[in-house]
Amino acid sequence: MHSDAHRMRFGPVFSLGFILMKYVYTFGDGKAEGDASQKPLLGGKGANLAEMSRIGLPVPAGFTISTEVCTYFYANDRQYPPELRDQVTAAIANAEAAMQAKFGDASNPLLLSCRSGSRESMPGMMDTVLNIGINEQVVQALIKQSGNEHFAWDSYRRLIQMYGDVVLGLKPESKNDPDHFEDILEHARDAAGVDHEKDLSIDALKDIVTKFKAVIREHAGIEFPEDPMEQLWGCIGAVFGSWMNDRALVYRRQYGIPHDWGTAVNVQAMVFGNLGDDCATGVGLTRDCSVGKPGFCGDYLINAQGEDVVAGTRTPKRIEETLASDMPNAFSQLDDIGKTLEKHYKEVQDIEFTVQRGKVWMLQTRNAKRTGFAAVRIAVDLVNEGLIDAKTALEKRRIPADDLNQLLQPIFDPAAKAAAEGNNLLLAKGINAGPGAATGQIVFHASDAEAQWNADNDLQLILVRKETSPEDLRGMKVAKGILTAFGGASSHAALVSRQMGKTCVCGCSALAIDYDAGTVTVGDTVLKEGDWISIDGFSGEVFAGKIDTSPSEVMEVLTGNKAEEESETYQRYAQLMSWADEHRRLKVRANTESHDAEVSVQLGAEGVGLCRTEHMFFDHLDEIREMIFARTQADRERALAKLLDIQRADFLHLFRVMGDRAVTVRLLDPPLHEFLSEHHLHDDPKLAGKLAATFGVSEDDVHRRVEELKESNPMLGHRGCRLGIVYPEITAMQARAILEAACQLKKEGVASHPEIMIPLAGFKTEYDNQAEVVRSTAAAVFAEQGVEVDFMVGTMIEIPRAALTAGEIAENAEFFSFGTNDLTQTALGMSRDDYKGFIGYYMENDIVPADPFQTVDQTGVGRLMKIGVNDGRSTRENLKIGICGEHGGDPKSVYFCHEIGLDYVSCSPRRIPIARLAAAQAAVAEG
Ligand code: PEP
Ligand code: MG
Repeated sequence: MHSDAHRMRFGPVFSLGFILMKYVYTFGDGKAEGDASQKPLLGGKGANLAEMSRIGLPVPAGFTISTEVCTYFYANDRQYPPELRDQVTAAIANAEAAMQAKFGDASNPLLLSCRSGSRESMPGMMDTVLNIGINEQVVQALIKQSGNEHFAWDSYRRLIQMYGDVVLGLKPESKNDPDHFEDILEHARDAAGVDHEKDLSIDALKDIVTKFKAVIREHAGIEFPEDPMEQLWGCIGAVFGSWMNDRALVYRRQYGIPHDWGTAVNVQAMVFGNLGDDCATGVGLTRDCSVGKPGFCGDYLINAQGEDVVAGTRTPKRIEETLASDMPNAFSQLDDIGKTLEKHYKEVQDIEFTVQRGKVWMLQTRNAKRTGFAAVRIAVDLVNEGLIDAKTALEKRRIPADDLNQLLQPIFDPAAKAAAEGNNLLLAKGINAGPGAATGQIVFHASDAEAQWNADNDLQLILVRKETSPEDLRGMKVAKGILTAFGGASSHAALVSRQMGKTCVCGCSALAIDYDAGTVTVGDTVLKEGDWISIDGFSGEVFAGKIDTSPSEVMEVLTGNKAEEESETYQRYAQLMSWADEHRRLKVRANTESHDAEVSVQLGAEGVGLCRTEHMFFDHLDEIREMIFARTQADRERALAKLLDIQRADFLHLFRVMGDRAVTVRLLDPPLHEFLSEHHLHDDPKLAGKLAATFGVSEDDVHRRVEELKESNPMLGHRGCRLGIVYPEITAMQARAILEAACQLKKEGVASHPEIMIPLAGFKTEYDNQAEVVRSTAAAVFAEQGVEVDFMVGTMIEIPRAALTAGEIAENAEFFSFGTNDLTQTALGMSRDDYKGFIGYYMENDIVPADPFQTVDQTGVGRLMKIGVNDGRSTRENLKIGICGEHGGDPKSVYFCHEIGLDYVSCSPRRIPIARLAAAQAAVAEG
C-alpha cells in the first residue's frame, strides 16, 4: 500500500536510529506533501486537497492521516501507531501557521473539521465532525472574533450534536430509535414558532447547548469534553471506526471496494459559510451529471454550514440559476476554479466549497459520479472539446460499461404519459436527479421496501421519503425509483440513485409526507402506502397511478422508428460505439434465436454465439410432445419430420438475418421434462386427457411417461449430448434442419456459416459420437441437395471434465464455447436454479465476492477456462473459442475473457453494447 513513489519523494523519517513511518501529510497555503497520485495512501479527498493546494487553488490548511493508520488501527485492536500523536501535533502547528490562528486558543481560535476519505468515494457512508475545538472559553472568543453571537452558539451546538452522534454513537439507527438532539431542536423550533434553527434566538441556542450536553451526560455517561485535543482524537477514532460500520460494509460490497483498503482521515481548518449573508456553502459540478449538459451547476445555501446542503433539510438554490446575481464575485471565482479543475483533471469534477465573507474556499474535488446518459455525453463532449482523445474516453472509470444500460432503458410511453396528464394525474414536479421512467407501489421506509421485495422479487416499488440517508441504502437498492420531498440534485437521494442507475426525482416540495399515517398528500390527492405512483427522472414529473413505459430513444433509432437526426442521444451513443469497435479485439455475438435476431444485429452483434434450439420448440409443444410419446423409432421419426419443417423454417430466418455472420446452433440441450412434466399437467388439468386422445394412449400412460421423465436433479440428468447419444435421430433431425436451410440459402445466393455445437460433452467419445451423427447427416444432405456449405462442428465446454480434457476433445472439435452457466454450476456444485436461497447471505458475509452466476469466479471457474483454452489450443493452434454463458455480457467477465485470449463473447441482445464497450475497455486498459 505504501507506494515506492511516495517513499522516494518523502523518504522515511529517521530518528535515533529507528525508521519512523510517515503517517501524516500536510497541505494548504499553496504547498502540499502529497498529490493526486496518492489516493491509495491519502484517500481520494486527501490526495485531491493536496493536489488543489499544489495548483494554487484556495484550500484551507490541514493534514491527512494516511490509510496505513487505518490498517494499523484494525490490525492492532484499534490502537494507533506510537509515532502518530507527535506527527499530528506538528501538523496542527503547520495548519495554525498557515491560517494564523491557534487550535483551542482562547482569543484567536482555529477550529478544525475531521472527515473520512477512502480511495474510492463512498458518499455519506462514513462520518464527519465539524467545528472541533469549541468549548466554553472558545465560544466566547468566537463571539468576539466573528462579531456574530448566533453563529458562535450555533457552531457550538452543531459540534456537540455531531460529536454525540458520531463519536458517542447516539445517532438513531432505525426509524424507531429516539433522536434526542433532533427532538430538542424540534421542540425549540416549535416553541419559537420558526421553521429552522437559523431563526432561533441566541438564548434558545444557549439553552440547546446546555440540553445537548445533558443528553451526552445521560445517554453516553460522560461529560462533553472541554479539551479540544480530546475532542479531535475522539473524532479521528470515530472516523476510522466508521470504515467498518454496516452501511459502509454494504456499500463496499455493492461496488466491489475491498475492505482492506481502509480510509484516510482529513483534518482541516474550518471556514464558515454561516457567518452572514456574504457567506454560503455549496456543492457543485463542473457540468451537469444527470444528462451531461455542459456548464457549472449545483446547489448552494446562503448563511449555512456544509452538511445542510447534503442533508437535504433545507432545499438549496441552484448555482446556475441565481448565484451570479446573489454573489457575482463568488460566482466568477467558482467558474474560474471549475475551468481550472477540468483542464487539470481532464474530467468533470464534483466539488464542495464554502464562501466565507465573499471568498471561495475549496473543500473537496473529485471525479464526478454520473448517470450512464451523462457519462456518454460527457466522454463524447470532452473528446470533441479537445480535452481528451477517443481512447481515453473509453476508460472503464469514465463509463462503467453496465451504465450503457440506461440508454437502452425504457421511458414512459408518450401516449400513456399524455393520457395521465390529460387525466390530471400529474401531481407535482421535483428535480430530475436520475433519468429513466419508474412506476411502482409506494413504500415509505427502506426497511419495509427491503422486506416486501425479499418476499416478492417481482414487486415494483417506489421509495417515497422526505429525504434519504445512508441507512436507506438497502431499500433504495430494491426500489425501482426514489422520490423525495426535500434535497437538491446533490442530496443523498440524488447522488446514490445516480450511482445505482435508478430513476430518481428529489426535492419535490409539493409532497406532504406523513410517515405515521402512511400517506403522501399533494393538494387534494392522498396516496397511501401500496398505491401506484410514477416518476419521470428525465423531467422530474410525478404522477399518481401506473404509466406504461416505452423503448429508449437509442432503441427507437436502432429499430428504425425514429430518425438518427432527431436524437442527439443516439448520435453520441453511435460515436462512442464506433470508438469502442475500433479499439476492441474481442468479437461480440448474440445469444439469440430467431425472434430477436434483427435487434441483435441492430445492437451490433457480429454473429450468434448461442442459438438455444429448445427455445424454438416452446411454440411447438404439441410436436415435441408427439416425439416424447413415440413408442417406436418409426413413430419418433414421424414426429421428428414435423419438427424438421419447423426448425428448418426457423434456421432459414435466422441465417437470412445474420447473413455473412457466423451462427452457432446448439443441439437440443434441456431434459425432456422441460416440455412435459407434472407441473404442465397440474397447470392445465385438461392436458392429460388431451394428450391421451392425440397420441392414442391412455391417461395412465400419460402419467406414466411424465413419471419416467421426472428427475430429482433436473439439471444434471438426461440432457445435453446425452439425449442425442441415446436418441441420435434428434441430433440428425436438427443437423438436417440446419444444413438444409443453409443449402437452400446458398441456392438463393445467400451465404451462411453454421457452427453446430454439441452441448454438455465431458468425454471425447461423447463429442465424437455426436460429431459423427452431424457429419454423416451433412454428407447425406449435401448429396441430396447437390450443393455443399461450409460448416463447423464444435462443442460447449460446460462441465469441468470437458475443460480438463480439452486437449483430447480439440482433436476433433473445431471450436469451443464456454457455457459458464453450467460450468459454474458444476464446478461449484451449486445449482443454478436453487442458489438464490443463500447467495445473498454469502455475498453479505463476504463468503463470495460476487454472484458467481453473474461474474465469472475467476479463481475457480476461470482456472478451468484457462486450462481449456491452453490445452485446446495446444492441440489445435487456431481453435476458435468463445463464451456463451450469461457472463458473456458482464463487464468484469468480459475483461477476463479478453485476458485469457478468447475470440469472442456472446450475450443476450440487450447487453451487446455493454459487451462491446467492455471489450474495448479491456483492450484500452492494456495500453
Ligand atoms: C451455459 O451453460 O453456460 C449455457 C450457455 O447453456 P444453458 O444456459 O442453456 O445451459
Ligand atoms: Mg449449458
